Amino acid sequence: MEPPEAVLAVHDLRKAYRELVAVDGLTFHVNAGEVFGLVGPNGAGKTTTLRSIAGILPPTSGRISVDGHDLETDAVEAKRRLAFMPDEPRLFDYLTVRDHLAFAARLYDVKDAEEKGRVLLEELALTGKEDALPAELSRGMKQKLVIACGLLHTPRLLVFDEPLTGIDPGGIRRMKQTIVKRAQEGAAVIVSSHLLPLVEEICHRVLILAKGKSVLTGTLDEVRRFAGESASLEDVFLKVTEGTGPE
Ligand code: ATP
Repeated sequence: MEPPEAVLAVHDLRKAYRELVAVDGLTFHVNAGEVFGLVGPNGAGKTTTLRSIAGILPPTSGRISVDGHDLETDAVEAKRRLAFMPDEPRLFDYLTVRDHLAFAARLYDVKDAEEKGRVLLEELALTGKEDALPAELSRGMKQKLVIACGLLHTPRLLVFDEPLTGIDPGGIRRMKQTIVKRAQEGAAVIVSSHLLPLVEEICHRVLILAKGKSVLTGTLDEVRRFAGESASLEDVFLKVTEGTGPE
């Protein structure tokens, strides 16, 4: 049973692509105010898990609920409460930065969208790019725009897949602050990344995934203890995932 404050509850999630089982009986929860790290070798099933949570990919079996709303039987309410920020920014070619924010605001019925958009662009250092089309933005700026659109409706659950890809050092520092701030304000945050120092810096609990299964989960201290005194997350990761990556 997940605790009552769990915003995200994943129970016995399984996803098979034909005969390949990408996620195999995964159960975990993320509480309000918590940053949860999902790590694992290439092909472990992280993106499959995140896409299932975002409601993009139908699970083969298992249950996912967001803020008490079942993603299968109450999909609209569940999806209203989450934002998925994929590692590959997907934008509309003919919409400007301002148009993207206006579109997201209409989709989620956001009040005071203009002011909220202005504050978000400031927070993510995109001010001045309001009239730019995606083709006129750098890769990192596109990534930031996707994140600004995701944050506009103040979701209860934030799902980040490799949030720092293509972002410069100043942007990395701001992005970490952005993620931590949302959790401090009460959101549940799940972050998947190969950057283990990032995970160590901002996550409260982690789950190490290998071949679709959880091999170790707990608070950072609990997980690090697995590889002995003064072990890093990288030490533990390498220890528990040895030989489980792609051949
Ligand atoms: P990475 O760290 O490389 O991004 P990941 O942990 O995110 O990996 P997934 O992308 O979830 O891993 O892939 C898990 C497994 O599912 C892999 O074996 C992959 O080849 C397979 N897979 C992913 N998407 C599909 C798909 N659309 N069709 C078939 N197989 C897929």
